[in-house]
Amino acid sequence: MPTVFLGLGSNIGDRHMLLAEAVRMLHLTTGIHIQQSSTIYETDPVGYVEQDPFLNVVVKAQTELSAADLLRRTQEIENELGRTRDIRWGPRTLDIDILLYDHLYIQEGNLLVPHPRMCERAFVMVPLAEIAPDILIPLGKEEQVTAAEVLAHVEGKEGVQPWKPLPWENIPDT
Ligand code: ATP
Ligand code: CA
Ligand code: CA
Repeated sequence: MPTVFLGLGSNIGDRHMLLAEAVRMLHLTTGIHIQQSSTIYETDPVGYVEQDPFLNVVVKAQTELSAADLLRRTQEIENELGRTRDIRWGPRTLDIDILLYDHLYIQEGNLLVPHPRMCERAFVMVPLAEIAPDILIPLGKEEQVTAAEVLAHVEGKEGVQPWKPLPWENIPDT
């Protein structure tokens, strides 16, 4: 079964509840099995900086869903948890990005995996390298690099601070 890494972020409302609820909803989805979560990090916004800090987390899952179906499901969860947003890279209740889908390099319509901006983002690379330092990130059809190698070169790591564990295993099923 394919292994995927998802990056979640929230900076409006009850950020911790939103992340925990999103992970619970993912785990309760037929064909998605959450296996591991990083620590939750609190991170300074990048891009559009006039907004509150984010909480970010990366989870590892196994899935029977195709990348396209997984994207549809993550978007449904974003919508169910009330995602609203007007400004690109601006505040949002919940964002779920597909970072990696096995070692595949996918370009299907507007779906791009690995997520095209992940390697320059400390808020992705710090939690990813915490749980999977040796995971290989395809940079093209041939080249690949480990998460730890990317992390060594990423800027802004000081803006990504451990906040709390995400004890998703203890989240009740109802
Ligand atoms: P960024 O993509 O830079 O993190 P964002 O998360 O704010 O910005 P969104 O508005 O959430 O951007 O997504 C824009 C579009 O990106 C979505 O419509 C989605 O179809 C597309 N997309 C392409 N590749 C991916 C991916 N790997 N994971 C999630 N969405 C993706
Ligand atoms: Ca994003
Ligand atoms: Ca997104």
